[in-house]
Amino acid sequence: MTAGLVPLRRGAVPRPLPGGRWARLAAAALAAGGAVAAPALPPPPSPAALLSVHVRDRSTGEPVPCRITVACPGGSPADLRPAPGARLAVRPGVAYTGDGAASLLLPPGEYAVAATRGFEYGLDRRLIRVAEGRASVELRIGREVDTAGWAACDTHIHTLTYSGHGDCTLDERVLTLAGEGIELPVATEHNLHRDYESAAMAMGVRRWFTPVVGNEVTTPVGHFNVFPVSLGASPPNHTLLDWQRLLPAIRRTPGARCVILNHPADLHSGFRPTDPVRFHPGSGESLDGREWTMDGMELVNSGAQQSDLMRPWRDWFSLLNRGRRIAGIGASDSHDVDAFLVGQGRTYLRCQDSRPDSIPVAQACDSLLAGRALVSCGLLAEMRVDGREAYGELLRPARERVAIRLRVQAPRWIRADRVEVYANGTRIVDLPILHGESAVKLDRTVAVRRPRHDAWLVAVATGPGVTEPHWPLRPPYQPTRSHWEPRVVGSTNPVYLDADGDGRWASPREQAQAVMAAVRLDPDALMAALAQRDDA
Ligand SMILES: [Zn+2]
Ligand SMILES: [Zn+2]
Repeated sequence: MTAGLVPLRRGAVPRPLPGGRWARLAAAALAAGGAVAAPALPPPPSPAALLSVHVRDRSTGEPVPCRITVACPGGSPADLRPAPGARLAVRPGVAYTGDGAASLLLPPGEYAVAATRGFEYGLDRRLIRVAEGRASVELRIGREVDTAGWAACDTHIHTLTYSGHGDCTLDERVLTLAGEGIELPVATEHNLHRDYESAAMAMGVRRWFTPVVGNEVTTPVGHFNVFPVSLGASPPNHTLLDWQRLLPAIRRTPGARCVILNHPADLHSGFRPTDPVRFHPGSGESLDGREWTMDGMELVNSGAQQSDLMRPWRDWFSLLNRGRRIAGIGASDSHDVDAFLVGQGRTYLRCQDSRPDSIPVAQACDSLLAGRALVSCGLLAEMRVDGREAYGELLRPARERVAIRLRVQAPRWIRADRVEVYANGTRIVDLPILHGESAVKLDRTVAVRRPRHDAWLVAVATGPGVTEPHWPLRPPYQPTRSHWEPRVVGSTNPVYLDADGDGRWASPREQAQAVMAAVRLDPDALMAALAQRDDA
């Protein structure tokens, strides 16, 4: 039924709700219980040359899954087609391969050919001239970012096949996952439980990742990712309108461990979770009676960038200050091969990751729930406090000065220019990053005064955004201002300091309540009590 349909152009479909002719047909096919096949590509350009690209790992010499970008001299995307029989995901100027090899038809001419493998790998790029007939090019890329002990997870992934919009079929999706170096992909099709396992086997890329079955519970009152879920279980009721019933229903899904609030600042079905009419941005107070009991919330959704990069962090900080244990999450929400890159936004979860094809999912979920997670969209920011990695833990500082070791990494083709540390939402460290050429952008220890009362610490690194075709950040699709400055970002989750040494964590809200109770609203006593506190 799909033959002859024209492929969707980039941005042709409003996301994430289906629209347009293709999407309507796809939705009809899904409603009839079917899956959606790829739109047919137009015939190859003529005259066509055959370009063979081979990409190998620089250290092992083995072929490696990757993204290949082919650009014309002016920078426009090359008119590519897969050679007959080639197992590739191809869009204008882009081909993903699961085995490092790509046979591509394109018009003769000059091209810049680049290979990348997502955030952790380097970039190799050649200028080539392709005459009529055959040409070949060999490229080598190597690991640049050290992520040992951290599984690269994308908690938010769609396909055209199952979600009915975007342009990435299931077979193409597994190639893009291998090509962007995602080790723990979570299938989150709208209100469906689906498994990428058999497609990964069929396309020969199962050794590169461990597929997880999830669901984007897509409701009129927000979208929630839940995973892992049992493949055969009924998806939770997505028509419930109050969170007090909806969240327990999501948690009752067989197998469910992690529940994440998606794109909290975006508007869907007329509902924006952090709209100021329902959520007080300063205090994190729910103004419409909703309990924020989810395990995580997306700080980065690279398919739905924010005009104000830090807005989701500020909302999250206010929830942390209320004492909520909600993990910060990065995800891509990609429905596409190239329009929005899968795995661009991602979360690193502390777990055994020496075999990407057998990541221990339960251990990864334990880490997410405990906050042993790093949010990444182009940078990896890490923090050690008094010599310890202690995300999600309560640390008792031994001395008056607390040593915070900050490390920021990215491949050499990404730059970082700033790292900050926040304590209870107040910035206490702000360092420029001057040397962006190497993969370790910064590794420095700063000493800060021990807060007088309990405080959480979060480190956030940022840098100029990538706009080149091998890893372009896409503009917000729900902009809140006319100007958008693309920025890469990496963030830790909180480390909790038991600064008063009483062996327990008191959130800023709890501390404030204790002060108020102690002074019984006596203004003089209140002023005296507040004078004892510091800004953090
Ligand atoms: Zn969504
Ligand atoms: Zn989504």
